[in-house]
Amino acid sequence: MKLDENGRCPVCLKKPLPYRRSGKFFCTGCHRDFSIKTGEWIANWAWKPVCGELFPTYPHSDYVNAKPTAAALRRGRTQQMVGGEAVTRTALSEKMHALADGGHARAAELREKADAFDAATQGFYAQPQTCTVQKFFGHHVRARRLWCDITGEPLI
Ligand SMILES: [Zn+2]
Repeated sequence: MKLDENGRCPVCLKKPLPYRRSGKFFCTGCHRDFSIKTGEWIANWAWKPVCGELFPTYPHSDYVNAKPTAAALRRGRTQQMVGGEAVTRTALSEKMHALADGGHARAAELREKADAFDAATQGFYAQPQTCTVQKFFGHHVRARRLWCDITGEPLI
């Protein structure tokens, strides 16, 4: 995930604060850091890397479910809408869908595993939580294994 073409946080659709000395932008909505150089989302105190993905350090804190304001939405939306609800996909799921959308021979399999992982992610971070940590990591492992199997990327 990276800042959009207007330099806005893709989740909150607002401009993050620049911290030039540390080379980062900080979004006050979702507490994500983005690299000033590349615009890419990077790990910080609020979003920690787990198995190559960034997950919230405080899953039940408000920043995890940060959404664009109504005004920001009117200016343009970049989030995926599924059944009228905004869904933030993980980086892995985004890559898998991109590969499937590109017409990969195993597109159906890619979409199935990515969607199952998305559903588990939502359930894991929902209040109340509807997906256990074991199930959540199980879906992550299955999605990741398929991705590595197809791309040849190392599993770890
Ligand atoms: Zn944000």
